[in-house]
Amino acid sequence: MLKNKKIVYFCQECGFESAKWMGQCPGCKAWNTFVEEAISTKKPSGSAAKSQDKRQEPVILKDINLSEDERQTCGIGELDRVLGGGIVPGSLVLVGGDPGIGKSTLLLQVCRNLAEKDVSVLYISGEESLRQIKLRANRIGTFKDKLQLLCETNLEVIREIIERKKPDVVIVDSIQTMFHEDISSAPGSVSQVRESTNILMQLAKGMGVSIFIVGHVTKEGNVAGPRVLEHMVDTVLYFEGDRHASYRILRAVKNRFGSTNEIGVFEMQSSGLEEVKNPSEFLLNGRPEDASGSVVACSMEGTRPILVEIQALVCQSNFGIPRRTAVGTDFNRVNLLMAVLEKKVGIHLASADAYVNIAGGMKMTEPAIDLGICLAVVSSYKDIVIPDTVMAFGEIGLSGEVRAVSMAGQRVQEAKKLGFETVILPEVCRSSMENTQGIKLVYVSRIQDAISYIMK
Ligand SMILES: [Zn+2]
Repeated sequence: MLKNKKIVYFCQECGFESAKWMGQCPGCKAWNTFVEEAISTKKPSGSAAKSQDKRQEPVILKDINLSEDERQTCGIGELDRVLGGGIVPGSLVLVGGDPGIGKSTLLLQVCRNLAEKDVSVLYISGEESLRQIKLRANRIGTFKDKLQLLCETNLEVIREIIERKKPDVVIVDSIQTMFHEDISSAPGSVSQVRESTNILMQLAKGMGVSIFIVGHVTKEGNVAGPRVLEHMVDTVLYFEGDRHASYRILRAVKNRFGSTNEIGVFEMQSSGLEEVKNPSEFLLNGRPEDASGSVVACSMEGTRPILVEIQALVCQSNFGIPRRTAVGTDFNRVNLLMAVLEKKVGIHLASADAYVNIAGGMKMTEPAIDLGICLAVVSSYKDIVIPDTVMAFGEIGLSGEVRAVSMAGQRVQEAKKLGFETVILPEVCRSSMENTQGIKLVYVSRIQDAISYIMK
């Protein structure tokens, strides 16, 4: 029995492989993450062995045919954007996110749209029964016959079916339930996930079928099992957002066929995930009126400017060490900005508690929101209301200077589109401004200038 088997140890965090157990992983420095797994040392069977027999010849670069129109749009604009303009044939896409956030629903909607266009789709579920999928599908709408369903977790069976049915697009829900007979460890373990992904990758590349893999996410926010999974696939998409909130953000963290900065915004409704075409408008909904500590800032997410409300609450601390939190942005950055306000503007924040929050649960780390954070903090500290028609962006340097940010023009246009009347922006962006009728631009070169503008 043990003839073709070997015992190895895997780090569950990063997939580091070792011949013996170790307390600390040399790969990711995590403690107590090694688990024992028996792996097969047999020669690879099936198409892996076959593909090695095939003779490959080098080709000249100009002979390689690259036509952009090969991409298959899935009919959901926000998803197409995140994918870089549609589904690339032969690509392997990992869709990760918390359980219940809408991964299966979105992919079922993709299936529906593709089947509508006469693309043959195979939906493989290891999680739900056919009846459960049917119930979910009924909520989404009617489906064409081009969609086929399969409840299976054995990858050899799945491989055989894909090779026989030759679908254009395959959905595997989820990778943690799939297993290969040659590997003795349980489904969801590092070696099973790795081997399963390997087989799916061979199928995708060998047959030109696009495969979407659903991956569940652990509490730490990684795809359960190893991070090696992320290295193997072409594209990694993550669902962000609170499962209790109505909207979801789909972000590409890796994409071999497009930009990794793009995000897609969806709203969860009873009929599935609806695209949010104008995220700024959506995120600014329900903004408080005449409240201090609130200001609208602008962050570029990929090619799109997105306006968000930054909220700050500053109050006298009752303890020796003031309490500070930052939700949706970098905590250390907020501390740094508060130190700049203390030293360069003379606002005494050292004995004040401060809470900074990006409203709507978005995560934003672009330095262009610095000015917004500073103005929100000052607004709350001095208890002055910044009019809700004012938007601000700019990076703050350590000596209190307001530095240039990219694509200032686009940000101003977005503010104009949403009916803002005033934009506070870096002085250095003045030369790049054009077509600014109908909106008042306030150029500032130091943080003090911006503060004196809102205080007057
Ligand atoms: Zn590790």
